[in-house]
Amino acid sequence: MRGVTHLVIGLFVALLILEFTDVNSLALVIIVLVASLLPDIDERHSLIGRKFLLVGWFSRHRGFFHSVYPAVIFSLVMLVFSNMFYASAFFLGYFIHLVFDAMTRSGISFFMVGKKVKGLFRTGGIVDYLLFFIFLVLSILLIL
Ligand SMILES: [Zn+2]
Repeated sequence: MRGVTHLVIGLFVALLILEFTDVNSLALVIIVLVASLLPDIDERHSLIGRKFLLVGWFSRHRGFFHSVYPAVIFSLVMLVFSNMFYASAFFLGYFIHLVFDAMTRSGISFFMVGKKVKGLFRTGGIVDYLLFFIFLVLSILLIL
């Protein structure tokens, strides 16, 4: 799935969290947005991968970074430096990226064992653009 689609889904998730909590935090939005992009650090041409080329050279795309392990590891690090709320928000943002990538034809392996979980739509295809549009509209509705 395209980075901008992950970004707008992350934005929607962050706004949804803000809708149902008393927290009014720009930090929360930033944390979820970063988490929603982070798995693609293993793809050298992705929005975030372009900033961390070394990672893309040394890890397979949709390998380790597209499993639950880094989601847990990064969330635990986040817990050490912040609190459970932000750590959970980070995990949620990261995990949702994995869920939406699992819906694509390329798929992902959540635990890096066994067959990949694969879906029906293509990254950059019509469903990808449709999801971007739907989550953009939903995000705007939450802001209004
Ligand atoms: Zn991805």
